[in-house]
Parts: sequence; C-alpha cells; structure tokens
Amino acid sequence: MIPQDWFVKIKEEVVAVFPDLEPVIFVKCDEITGGVEDYRAFMHVFHVPNAICHTPRAQELSDANIEGILWHEFGHIIAGEDGDECDADTTILEEFGIELSYDDKNLQYVLAHGIMPDDDSDSAILDDIEEFDEDEDSNGSMGNDVSEG
Ligand SMILES: [Zn+2]
Repeated sequence: MIPQDWFVKIKEEVVAVFPDLEPVIFVKCDEITGGVEDYRAFMHVFHVPNAICHTPRAQELSDANIEGILWHEFGHIIAGEDGDECDADTTILEEFGIELSYDDKNLQYVLAHGIMPDDDSDSAILDDIEEFDEDEDSNGSMGNDVSEG
C-alpha cells in the first residue's frame, strides 16, 4: 500500500477518537532532505500547519515502516509540540492500543495491535518505552524543534 493510502486509513482511526484532527492533510515536503543514511527523515510534523509532511522516498519503505511512522507522526500531533519522541509513541499506545517498535535502522514499525492494557498489565510496556527515551537522550540525538521521523 502506498503512503497516501496508509495515511487515509490511519487518519480514519485517529479522527474517530480525535475529531479535531479531521483537517490534517498529507503533504509532500521539499524540506525533508535527509540522505540515504538518514533513515528517520521520511516524515515530520509541526512544519506545515495541520499536516504530516512526507518525502516521496517514503514509498520505498515497507508497509510495516510506513504504518509505524504514520502512527508515530499522529502521536506527535496528539501529544503536541511540547511532546518528545517518546510521548508520541506512548500516546499511540495509550489511545489506540498500538505498540510501536524500532528496527535496526531506527525506523518505527507496528509491533502489536490491540493492546488495551489496564493500569497493571501495561506497566512493562510503558517501562520499555521510558527506557528507550533515556537511551535516546543519552546519545544526544533528540531535542530538535522539528521532529523528523
Ligand atoms: Zn515539512
């Protein structure tokens, strides 16, 4: 499935829970200029208002990566501009029961659907995400104003 079709599908699920996100669109962005080694530079948010920006190179990704990245970007929108990378993923887990994971290129993919944990059983998953957040902080790769990936 091409990224545009994934966007339509996922946005439908997002808008069912967050109707305010109906205006969000999927736009091609020339400012995503990461090289081939910059695997996280396929989409970003908080650049064009009410939009997830993408580069056409995203078409080369696997369905699992496209889906994972799009959920992550919607997570950024829901978490807000003050949220970090971890907040984006935690938001998607808590609101949609979708756990995002990272492959060896540090690209998101959907690890599991339909996790709707109660307060007790979700603690292990959330701990994992918090650990991931600490790892990211320690190598100094976070903190960009524009979130890429
Ligand atoms: Zn952009």
